[in-house]
Amino acid sequence: MSPPTPAIREILLATGNPGKAREMSEILGSSDAPVRWRGLSDFAGRGWPEPRETADTFAGNAAIKALHYARLAGLWTIADDSGLEVDALGGEPGVRSARYAGEPKDDRANNALLVRRLAGVPAERRTARFRCCVVLADPDGVLASAEGTVEGVIIDQPRGSGGFGYDPHFWIPSAGQTAAEMSPAEKHAVSHRGRALRRLHERLLELLAAPPR
Ligand code: IMP
Repeated sequence: MSPPTPAIREILLATGNPGKAREMSEILGSSDAPVRWRGLSDFAGRGWPEPRETADTFAGNAAIKALHYARLAGLWTIADDSGLEVDALGGEPGVRSARYAGEPKDDRANNALLVRRLAGVPAERRTARFRCCVVLADPDGVLASAEGTVEGVIIDQPRGSGGFGYDPHFWIPSAGQTAAEMSPAEKHAVSHRGRALRRLHERLLELLAAPPR
């Protein structure tokens, strides 16, 4: 007799940012977990409100987003909150990364402001990191969370056309490229999001084997 087939669990990857949605699907797409991945686009037309990201930490905002969408969808849900921390700017833009230059969200304006704020700062003081917090929640609460970072240096002239957000200005010394010059697989191997999601995936496998509630 063959062993029982594990039940397939639907899990929502809850982000409205197309760059993040693509990367989350690419990183988790190779998972052999018994999961059917869903995206917010599968629920378009439901009129769901956006979550209010009121926390002052990535972890807090990731939990807000994951719980918000888990309750709306009635599904296990993974959300990401992430951003850029520049040492010479005291950790800015941090949790404000998406709207650094104000509303509406605009990557080009954010990058222009970043370069302006760093005018005159020498190369050796342009250290920065991307940080990503990911949370898995069900409608009753947080099930697991994980974090990842990648260290880099901010450069004035953009390089590369891949990725999204601040990637063209984020030089990764260990790779000798900006994040926007890397292939998706190269970026995911070292990125904050790749690291965080691979850690969360370990926990997910345990939770799927022994669901908590
Ligand atoms: P969030 O949707 O509030 O988490 O906003 C995250 C913001 O941080 C994005 O809009 C980007 O500006 C920036 N960011 C996060 N991850 C990346 C990345 O992998 N590359 C470039 N920018 C990123």
